[in-house]
Amino acid sequence: MSQGLIFLGAPGSGKGTQAQVLAQNLGIPHISTGDMLRQAISDQTELGAAAKSYMDKGELVPDELILNLIRERLGQEDAQKGWILDGFPRNVPQAEFLDRLLEEITHQIQWVINLQVPDEVIVQRLLLRGRADDSEATIRHRLEVYREKTAPLADYFQAQGKLQSIDGHRAPEQISQQLQALVAA
Ligand code: ADP
Repeated sequence: MSQGLIFLGAPGSGKGTQAQVLAQNLGIPHISTGDMLRQAISDQTELGAAAKSYMDKGELVPDELILNLIRERLGQEDAQKGWILDGFPRNVPQAEFLDRLLEEITHQIQWVINLQVPDEVIVQRLLLRGRADDSEATIRHRLEVYREKTAPLADYFQAQGKLQSIDGHRAPEQISQQLQALVAA
């Protein structure tokens, strides 16, 4: 039975960075749906073409584009010893899908890590990052989408006793240390 971690947290919370470091230390794959979609766009696949306009606007990509991607990715060999999901699930229907899928493939969520960072800090960080979808208007819209669609997942996983809220407004090394200690416990 393989166990996984999920990183929640607003865009710019640092979840991608932390997920990557932790995955490397644990020797398990870091599965970022945002990275997978950006790869699909650069590979000019059908998925990439379908996803691009949503991403440019800071909207969520429709669930049907994401669910198969996750099902396939979690079925791969390297995911059988554990995984870190970053950017998925992003709304309640995706979380419900994941719960059903994990039951089917006998995987389990160990912890859902909610990295918490104040909004003003987030906007500043994202403006500095300067990715293609990081204009101020798009950033503000992504934060709204996060609040409306993704933030309710904290309650969803809290109800399952899986949620760990972590202060993300600290030095990256301090956060990494706390996460290491958490997964080792
Ligand atoms: P950020 O953490 O800055 O929001 P991501 O790389 O996680 O960046 O996601 C970038 C974009 O990819 C999102 O704004 C959204 O359009 C799309 N996306 C990523 N994951 C999902 C998902 N699980 N469901 C729907 N859309 C997604």
